[in-house]
Amino acid sequence: MDLKVPYADKDQAEALGARWEPSRRCWYVPDGLDLQPFRRWFPEPDSGVPGLNLRSLEAYVVTAPRRCWRCEQITIVAGFLMAPGFEDFSVWEDDLDGQGRWGGGEGWCFAFYIDVLPSPIAAQAIMHAPRYRRVFSKTTQSSYWANHCSACGALQGDFHLFEDLGGPFLPRDSRDLADQRAFRVKGVFEAGGSFGPIIDVATAIPGVRVGPTTSSPPATKGRPGASRTPNPSILERVRRWLGQS
Ligand SMILES: [Zn+2]
Repeated sequence: MDLKVPYADKDQAEALGARWEPSRRCWYVPDGLDLQPFRRWFPEPDSGVPGLNLRSLEAYVVTAPRRCWRCEQITIVAGFLMAPGFEDFSVWEDDLDGQGRWGGGEGWCFAFYIDVLPSPIAAQAIMHAPRYRRVFSKTTQSSYWANHCSACGALQGDFHLFEDLGGPFLPRDSRDLADQRAFRVKGVFEAGGSFGPIIDVATAIPGVRVGPTTSSPPATKGRPGASRTPNPSILERVRRWLGQS
């Protein structure tokens, strides 16, 4: 992962294990190192892919078998689960300038209606659900990364996967978790999209690490107790972020 290290911090970054890539004139964290100590040098979203409003140091591709609504064959669907401490770029109620900032997510949450997904992240879902791709949905009148049946190609819409109680990515309790599997996302998970309610039973999914997820609470710019403005749409958030509202 690339870092944005000010010149004054370079010795400190190096001591923690960051390396300098002369051809790109950039500090980076070699694969396999814990990213947490480098957090303060993570690039801000405006230096990377536009439209990102979610990020998480720990995230999982969760897969589940699902009966296709059209051909009734079983197909594998995938979703991204973010660990407690994930961050969400939002406009908060006490944001007087209305510019928005990153705040901490408190529990395990699935990201969905993902509009923007960097390709190294998308590839990790496609590895498990080969027909996961960005598509225009007539239902939502927007494009998002969605699952498709491996037999007939039919769109398996996010609403039914992530918002139907008891569905594969909105379990009521651990009994709804019989067939889910989790695979740790390599690198930092980043996406532009929405996220669902806290999934208390997420740690019961095979493959999700049990126990404390981070050694220390992540430093966020979110002030504790600040509450979000009521549910701004993704488009609205992105517009605000881009300063177009
Ligand atoms: Zn099908």
